[in-house]
Amino acid sequence: MSNEYLDSIAKKGLVPQTLAITKKQLEEYVKTKNCLRACEACGTEAWDCPSTDGMPGLFTLGSARDSNYASWLFQFNCENCGNTRFIGAGYVWAFYNPTEAEQA
Ligand SMILES: [Zn+2]
Repeated sequence: MSNEYLDSIAKKGLVPQTLAITKKQLEEYVKTKNCLRACEACGTEAWDCPSTDGMPGLFTLGSARDSNYASWLFQFNCENCGNTRFIGAGYVWAFYNPTEAEQA
């Protein structure tokens, strides 16, 4: 991923708009997409999203191949066994910002 591409998406609001996604919006997203079904490890259907002041935990996963690239991920933990799932933040951003996503 080039720096020009990263600069272009940053100018389009991707970074601030992703940082502005609330825990309530994330919960609405996973409900709409039906992407938090029962835990594959223990079968429990209760998930928790770590949050601070209503904002969901948002983490980065750096690329080993390109130091300029990192995936942004929202984290969910199974409340029974701690199994962890990640949702790509870009998909959540695109859901709430469809016009900008089409141009990215
Ligand atoms: Zn579990």
